[in-house]
Amino acid sequence: METTPCSLALTSSLCLAGDDIFMKSAIEEARKGHEEGGIPIGSVLVKDNQIIGAGHNKRIQDNNPVMHAETDCLHNAGRIGSYKGTTLYSTLMPCFFCAGAVVQFGIKKVVVGESKTFSGAKEFMQSHGVEVIDLDLLECKQMMDAYIQANPKVWSEDIGELEE
Ligand SMILES: [Zn+2]
Repeated sequence: METTPCSLALTSSLCLAGDDIFMKSAIEEARKGHEEGGIPIGSVLVKDNQIIGAGHNKRIQDNNPVMHAETDCLHNAGRIGSYKGTTLYSTLMPCFFCAGAVVQFGIKKVVVGESKTFSGAKEFMQSHGVEVIDLDLLECKQMMDAYIQANPKVWSEDIGELEE
């Protein structure tokens, strides 16, 4: 595999050519969500090298537990017919709920910013033939670290681990 220089801060030495520009857009979405007072997780859907949908976690903003970054992205992409050839980018490893949508809709490739904050449903997607690429980006991890440190309860609620 050839390595290419990448503008993002990488903890891994590999940067997959072409993938980073879409991850950058997903990170922009995450920042947008944070500016709105929400959890900084962003997502874009790509087909034929073009972004056909973008979204970010709006659970706080919309008081909607199912508006994760990935579901907001799929919602904003609208009815696209077949998901053949699409790639879903997310700044964080998708949870089981979003991974379920990936498998159900037949999205065969998922690129994530990181999975250290949340290991999500990587194996579930892989077991259904989805290619999962983890870019392991420090930038994505730092975004979540800062948010969780300031909002521990919101995060516990987001991943279904609130103990009350
Ligand atoms: Zn999710």
